[in-house]
Amino acid sequence: MFDHHAHPGYADDPDVDAMAAPPGSAALRERETNPELVQAAKALWGYPYNDLSPEHTKWLIQKKDEAKKQQGMAYFSNILDKLNIEQGVANRAMMADYLNPKRFVWVFFADSFMWPFDNERETGRNSDEQVYIPLQEKMLHRWMQQEGLSKLPASFDDYLKFVTRTLEDNQKKGAIAQKFEVAYFRSTKFSDPTREQAQDIYQRFVSGGIPNEQEYRTFQDYIFRYLVSEGGRLHLPVHIHSAVGIGDYFNLSESNILNLESVVRDPRYASTIFVMIHGGYPYDRQAIWLAAMKNVYLDTSETEVLLYPSEFKKVLKQWLETFPDKVTFGTDSFPYNQALGAEESYWLGVQSSRTALAAALAEMISEGEVTETQALQLAHGYLHDNAVGIYQGKVH
Ligand SMILES: [Zn+2]
Repeated sequence: MFDHHAHPGYADDPDVDAMAAPPGSAALRERETNPELVQAAKALWGYPYNDLSPEHTKWLIQKKDEAKKQQGMAYFSNILDKLNIEQGVANRAMMADYLNPKRFVWVFFADSFMWPFDNERETGRNSDEQVYIPLQEKMLHRWMQQEGLSKLPASFDDYLKFVTRTLEDNQKKGAIAQKFEVAYFRSTKFSDPTREQAQDIYQRFVSGGIPNEQEYRTFQDYIFRYLVSEGGRLHLPVHIHSAVGIGDYFNLSESNILNLESVVRDPRYASTIFVMIHGGYPYDRQAIWLAAMKNVYLDTSETEVLLYPSEFKKVLKQWLETFPDKVTFGTDSFPYNQALGAEESYWLGVQSSRTALAAALAEMISEGEVTETQALQLAHGYLHDNAVGIYQGKVH
């Protein structure tokens, strides 16, 4: 299998994501009370108990700590081995020295280029943004450091050059794609401003002052489209968070995947490959029709974990019945806490996807939609070939 979307890392590693989870309500399956986590602990660690009581959980934490010490860089590779994942994306702020680059390929975050100004009003919008926006500022600073800038360039031209240089340098460091989680920070409705409009706003606020909301969005709309367009020129696919998100203030209607239709169906970006991360859930039924575009793919991560396999099977079946060569597998593995670590969420993603895939294909065969041979091809496509085909020679 090739895992098209995950955040591998230890629970105490701040580089696992470019944002952090604010306290919000987790769906039933993502809570610590999920009995499937006992199965995960048994499968991965030979856990001898049948519950996750605090006393028993200590055994698990100790077992993992020992394995980390003994195995070092092989620790997460061994998790992939146990689950039959050959290689997987590490969507992280920065790569970790404890992830073997032969098994984990980097996807970096590109949102921060859209927040270069005084973000006082952006941060003050709600308690989620109070967590998110400072982390975007930190990310932008790290890119500036990487490119040897002590402050923002005075001219807009030089700002765009800095953005491009960062993309190119990240690509040289091995990154295979750029990721946006912009839906957490603002609406995903992107207008189409001119370069002059964006330049004017940059010039007015680069050395201070707070742009009003309309001005900030206009600037961001231009930068987003610039990044998308550079993604085509550099063969650096664009991954976009396109489903429901965590936190209390994630706005589902403002982040509807169909908002992105005006971008992905824009002929100017025909050479940019888009991967709609999490497949637009709960607008999954609409989402699959975006994959009619030859440069648009859907990833099933998160969806297969928010839903249980019996329900995820319905989503997957419908997608496989529509554009099967555009659907890719991902786990969205993430270190939620010590007991539900990235390790267990890898297991949950793999287990759910395999179970749902087997059920969907069995129905498709019995209903005469595909032959068994064709079903096996669809399985290979979903679990491996479709995603690997996007990155020509860079992954396997
Ligand atoms: Zn993710």
